[in-house]
Amino acid sequence: MSDVIRLLPDSVANQIAAGEVVQRPSSAVKEMLENAVDAESTEIRLIVKDAGKTLIQVIDNGKGMSETDARLCFERHATSKIRDTQDLFSIRTMGFRGEALASIASIAQVELKTRQENEELGTEIQIEGSEVKSQNPCQTSKGTSVAVKNLFFNVPARRQFLKSDSVELKHISEEFYRVALVHPNLKFSFYHNDKCLHNLESESFKERIISLFGDVYKKRLVPIEQAVSHVKISGFICKPEFAMKTKGEQYFFVNNRFIRHPYLNHAVSQAFNELIPEKSYPSYFIRFEVEPKNIDINIHPTKTEIKFIDEKLIYGVLLAAVKKSIGAYNLSPSLDFLTNPKFQPDVLPQNYTPKIPTVPVNPNYNPFEKTNFSERSKKPTNQQAYLESFELLQKPIETCVQKEIEHTIDDGSTYFDSFQILNKYLVVDTHSGLLLVCQQRAHERVLFEQFQKQIVDRQLVSQQKLFPQSLDFSAPNAETLSDILPSLKDLGWDIESLGHHSFAVNAAPCEVKESEVQGVLEIILENFKSGIMLNRNDKQTNLAISMASGMAIKSGAPLDKLEQKHLLTQLFACQIPQLSPKGKPVFSVLSEEEINTRLN
Ligand code: ADP
Ligand code: MG
Repeated sequence: MSDVIRLLPDSVANQIAAGEVVQRPSSAVKEMLENAVDAESTEIRLIVKDAGKTLIQVIDNGKGMSETDARLCFERHATSKIRDTQDLFSIRTMGFRGEALASIASIAQVELKTRQENEELGTEIQIEGSEVKSQNPCQTSKGTSVAVKNLFFNVPARRQFLKSDSVELKHISEEFYRVALVHPNLKFSFYHNDKCLHNLESESFKERIISLFGDVYKKRLVPIEQAVSHVKISGFICKPEFAMKTKGEQYFFVNNRFIRHPYLNHAVSQAFNELIPEKSYPSYFIRFEVEPKNIDINIHPTKTEIKFIDEKLIYGVLLAAVKKSIGAYNLSPSLDFLTNPKFQPDVLPQNYTPKIPTVPVNPNYNPFEKTNFSERSKKPTNQQAYLESFELLQKPIETCVQKEIEHTIDDGSTYFDSFQILNKYLVVDTHSGLLLVCQQRAHERVLFEQFQKQIVDRQLVSQQKLFPQSLDFSAPNAETLSDILPSLKDLGWDIESLGHHSFAVNAAPCEVKESEVQGVLEIILENFKSGIMLNRNDKQTNLAISMASGMAIKSGAPLDKLEQKHLLTQLFACQIPQLSPKGKPVFSVLSEEEINTRLN
């Protein structure tokens, strides 16, 4: 009998470990950046060539290593970050396994230069496939530089599986973002093939997000803040209207370490539910601070997954925090509406000769044109007319006339000079720019909020029909209708099944004309069915959305001024005016800058 078990040489063991730790250039980037942060650096440079395939170098100004440590850091399980098992429960550093440098050195040519502050000379080490080629004293600035060349030079199979430069560079950028984001106080720079991709000064978290992802984020970010005894949550979420079609900027950090956490991601999505369209994803940059003893970071070799001791509690706190921010920011549009002219004229300047006020006349006024009676009754009273004309007199006469044509004063503080285009959009002039409102979605939003309220309040607004209307439906629609009959009752419908896919409509909400009952019900049923398939909302919300779709004013319907005004007033009294119940944008503002640019 002969013994067959052998201890693997370190170089082989390291290569095996490298398989776990270093999958691609970005993995090395992550480990090296984390080491630089752990070394208490204030400035970190990342230099990459050919998407990391040729060179990955990280230069920091941190505390550096002694001559002995410089040699030891390439040994497996060599770490300065833990001493005993107790330390495992209080780790605040990024690394602690002592595997990264050993792994990287087993599959690349590594050149390390390092010097501690109080030393005159530093140490330079060349190591290749775990084999130390040279070690010498050297002149170098304080801190550490690790250059990793020709990654996977001795593992051709791995090298072969690397993706294109653009893909690998994307992965590297992602690792760079993850580290740079949560350390906004540190300066970072990032070069690829001698081109500077980022040069970040020390800044706030918000500024760092904007520096990395662009100025457009200035308008998108809303702060989130919540502290309970176990956990402190802070950071930013992006407003729902900026949700992305791809899972874009979704960042969780726990104790300054990027993590993935599908369960907590679900909490955020849940808070955004209804506010964003299907198949789009909210962006967020959320930081958690927890006692290290309340998390287990050890479950994943590259440590992007962690386990919280009390996950459900954190889920709840996070959900509430995100909802609170959405609520606090109120989702109300940052539109600056023109407000009613003041009716108290200022004291007149001396030597001012008042002109005799004239009521501006609308030369286009046609007394035979169809006008709504109530609109006419709302025309300014004499006094209002006087005061208004006083204001208007100070402007050129054309604008007076124009204004008179365009608006009617009422006692609300906001007034809408709107007009309709394409029988589809309402256009309003505001201080923020030209507001374009989709009439159908606007009305869906208004009705949706109204129905939700009705479901809660149970105030019925149905109209009893003198003779019940009898309607037939397709088999699947009839089945769906039977299911939701009781809930429809809460929303003003009184419908009875007559069997064989026939129904008697005894009462309908007063907004629904008798001739439209069948059509409206069909739309409600179709929407309800697709809502169930998408499984996005609870039954009542789904019903309210479906009702809103069925009953809303449609694109293509001409609206007179009064109808436009009603719709706009109701819309901006809504809680979430900018999104339709299905999450589509209701309006958009064409800003002055945009108009200027177009006409440039
Ligand atoms: P870990 O980070 O898990 O401890 P590493 O293999 O990444 O393991 O690093 C091993 C050790 O080398 C670290 O614990 C640290 O003491 C030292 N080290 C690595 N990089 C640096 C650096 N940039 N500056 C100072 N010390 C470093
Ligand atoms: Mg490390």
